[in-house]
Amino acid sequence: MEKYILDEARLKSVEENYKRVLSSVKEAAVKAGRDENSVRLMCVTKTVEPPYINRALELGADLIGENRVQEYLGKRDELKLDGVERHLIGHLQTNKVKQIAGEVDMIESVSSVKLAKEISKVCTAKGITASCLAEVNIGKEESKSGIYIEQLHETLCEIAELPGIKIKGLMTIPPICDEAQARRYFAEVRAAFDSIGSSISNVEMKILSMGMSGDYEAAIAEGSNIVRVGTAIFGARKYF
Ligand SMILES: *Cc1c(COP(=O)(O)O)cnc(C)c1O
Repeated sequence: MEKYILDEARLKSVEENYKRVLSSVKEAAVKAGRDENSVRLMCVTKTVEPPYINRALELGADLIGENRVQEYLGKRDELKLDGVERHLIGHLQTNKVKQIAGEVDMIESVSSVKLAKEISKVCTAKGITASCLAEVNIGKEESKSGIYIEQLHETLCEIAELPGIKIKGLMTIPPICDEAQARRYFAEVRAAFDSIGSSISNVEMKILSMGMSGDYEAAIAEGSNIVRVGTAIFGARKYF
């Protein structure tokens, strides 16, 4: 009863890619003068079919990131998720909060007070607290959601008042740019992360989620402690 036509060569390449990326993440941490285990590697699994995700999980991957609520809920039963942390990293519409609250370990894409209020409402009703990251729109791109850095402190102060939601750090996706510019963006987010520190009660600055396939080394150099890697592990995405 195979649902998928397994591509053995692709399975093999996921294995090689995962091992290679993991060791280069550790290397980048050491190069930045940090502990080799100070950066977590998230496998970004959007559009990837379960067997390929499971191959990475079998190799010890312990953190996955999904973009879409529907896609995650549809395929999670086929994933070997024992001991694996699951984060939602894609744009979250307020009308989807009900379906995802309590189903993932962290929502990294809290991009507005409005969304935070909905998460708060739903989680309070369920008697749970959602661990979240605030998403920073560092390039002020209209195509992306997220909070502008100038408004970050004020926005976090508002979210801090809400029950049922706890901000534990920041997530960002810089604009498409060269590595030097990406590093400047990452440095800006890191500076905000440090300056907020523990200054807002009920807000923690522990997790700094920055860096994807093309720029994770630069992000690690600027202090990231979660890198979100899709393409470099699973290959180019096919959208269907
Ligand atoms: C798709 C995605 C990634 C991974 O991107 P790659 O370039 O494939 O590594 C990371 N973060 C978010 C929010 C994404 O949507």
